[in-house]
Amino acid sequence: MSAKPKTLQQAIIHFANLDNCHKFMVARRWPNGVECPTCGRDDVRFISTRRMWECKEKHARKQFSVKVGTIFEDSPIRLDKWLIAIWMVANCKNGVSSYEVGRALGITQKSAWFMLHRIRLAMQNRSFLKLGGPDGEVEVDETFVGGAARFMHADKHRRRITETGTKDKTAVMGILERGGEVRAAVVGNRKKHALQTNIRAHVKAGSAIYTDALMSYQGLKAQGFEHQVIDHAERYVDGQVHTNGLENFWSLFKRQLKGTYISVEPFHLFRYLDEQVFRYNFRGLAHDGLRFEHVASHIIGKRLTYAEVTGKVGTTDCLPN
Ligand SMILES: [Zn+2]
Repeated sequence: MSAKPKTLQQAIIHFANLDNCHKFMVARRWPNGVECPTCGRDDVRFISTRRMWECKEKHARKQFSVKVGTIFEDSPIRLDKWLIAIWMVANCKNGVSSYEVGRALGITQKSAWFMLHRIRLAMQNRSFLKLGGPDGEVEVDETFVGGAARFMHADKHRRRITETGTKDKTAVMGILERGGEVRAAVVGNRKKHALQTNIRAHVKAGSAIYTDALMSYQGLKAQGFEHQVIDHAERYVDGQVHTNGLENFWSLFKRQLKGTYISVEPFHLFRYLDEQVFRYNFRGLAHDGLRFEHVASHIIGKRLTYAEVTGKVGTTDCLPN
């Protein structure tokens, strides 16, 4: 089949052939021809029986595969499984759990869980371009997610509730340009400094900004934004002034968390946000194959070790740049 797969069924048939997986990834990994990842030489010898290359320099790691320097590095899982996992995460509207992926691919839930976190890394949007502009309309809103307490053992539950009260929930901030993209991230708190730093970093001055009546948004006018407030104690829509776009995004995100992922530790939350942001921003693509291609093309230069993914690194007060 020369045509690119557009459906899951076509993808499964196409990528059941490991040579097809290999060709597909080589074209993305090295669009200008294969180079040694250690020294950059391009006169490398292909060992077809192993689907590896050998560099002519005599350095330590002279043999390499297409997985090196990507989210697949050091993974014993074959590309046919990786590519179908990417297809599933990129296209399942409410996400797909590691249990489902594990069963679908015949791997353990733990392996699938680790794969999914690496795939979410490839889905991360790190655009430096600011949203909005002179005619741009931007909604900004925050919400609380979680209450991991629901899923704890009763003793632990009681302790957590009395010790931390409502602090169990994680604050999340979103910025949505109408007719454009959404960005969202975990924030440490909802104070003025945290929220407005993100607004300045992600929204062009002069944009119209719509928020609710939270005090933390006061002062945006003085910073050159056309700030208008909808006070949710009174009503939810006043002409153009509302945050319904983000409300919709939050409800999709919470549905994904509740229905699919069930138990998410706060320090992993940003990865699930990255996943939902990706699907939201690419929801208009003509078919699933295009979303799949986009993720598969963003696996390069990204690595995530098991220690990193299980450690408490990654939560941040800033929206990702
Ligand atoms: Zn080399």
